[in-house]
Amino acid sequence: MNNQSENLMVLDLEALASNLDYTKHLAGPEKRVIASIKANAYGHDIRLVANVLQEKEVDMLATGNIEDARTLRNDGVETPLLLFAYATPENTIDAAKEGFISTIPNLASAISLNAITSVPIPVYLKIDCGLGRLGEPLNTAKDFVTKVYQLKNLKVEGIYTHVPFPDVASSPWAQDKLNQFDAFIQALESDGYSIPVTQAMGSCCVLAGLRDKSSAICIGHALYGLSPFSSQQAPTFQKLRPVVHSVSSTLIHIGHHEKGSDIAVRGLYGTAGAHVVGVLPLGAAMGMRPPADNKEMFVLVKGKKCRVMAVSLEHISIDLDGIENVAIGDRATIIGQDGDDSLSVDELAQAWQVTPLQALMSISGKFSVRSM
Ligand SMILES: *Cc1c(COP(=O)(O)O)cnc(C)c1O
Repeated sequence: MNNQSENLMVLDLEALASNLDYTKHLAGPEKRVIASIKANAYGHDIRLVANVLQEKEVDMLATGNIEDARTLRNDGVETPLLLFAYATPENTIDAAKEGFISTIPNLASAISLNAITSVPIPVYLKIDCGLGRLGEPLNTAKDFVTKVYQLKNLKVEGIYTHVPFPDVASSPWAQDKLNQFDAFIQALESDGYSIPVTQAMGSCCVLAGLRDKSSAICIGHALYGLSPFSSQQAPTFQKLRPVVHSVSSTLIHIGHHEKGSDIAVRGLYGTAGAHVVGVLPLGAAMGMRPPADNKEMFVLVKGKKCRVMAVSLEHISIDLDGIENVAIGDRATIIGQDGDDSLSVDELAQAWQVTPLQALMSISGKFSVRSM
């Protein structure tokens, strides 16, 4: 697909740079920045995004997936790469040989890794401050850290935690967790441990204006102009710009159905009037979904909203009734501006009854991606 018929996602990489600058401004200029590019850079395209972040001199890139890390190294990305997730000891050794920094989430993994490696392994230790996912719980974390420091083949380069929360009303909970993490690090330091990098604040904390003593932040959502909150937003979110500029496809067929004809996808048999139905080469296989019950989904053609009639495996049928001068080859906009009208990622997500990030995950990697 290299011509007009391609399904295309266009990224606004200046928005990415601007979101990074704003996030750094909020967190404070002294903080190092670890940029989260997991999940194909939140569905945006890991290669384009990583290149911009490297140019912007972020201190580190973080992904959950070693394949992503390899892709970036092969592209010539030299920014240090952190792996969020832990793999088997064997794969973790491979990762170290390739120059990646792995995360150690518990003592058992640290011990088995230390026992079999013949090369020193740079690691970040993960502490669980209340997310309840990966990491050593905060109340046993000091013991964990001191024991890992005794393992001679592991080199602790950082200690981090992750404190996301659902809405700004939970900010006091999160600030309390940040304070506990700070106290934990301080206790280690007064015992003589020096920890090169400490990190606790992600997009939720930064956008909510929380403060901590860690040397770094690790941000994902905010970089892409996505809200990390599921309900009440932080006012700072208004300053972020969407990085997805547009998602579009091309009309590959226009069916003119005369009065009395059948349009089975819409349950119309022997229609009372004429109908025009357009088809896009974009279906469930490319992550499209039908609208949820009682929701409508639209695309823009010639600057006008056209209802999605059906989503099949590789095609979408849209209602072109009333759209003038429409022709095969015209663009159809799923996200973005067309004439005076526009459709946002939020509107697509609402039609599908998912979050904006879930909507992007659905189409991630399915479109040709380029920058504006
Ligand atoms: C994804 C992730 C982040 C980034 O979180 P955002 O809410 O997207 O800013 C930070 N830390 C860890 C451990 C993560 O997995």
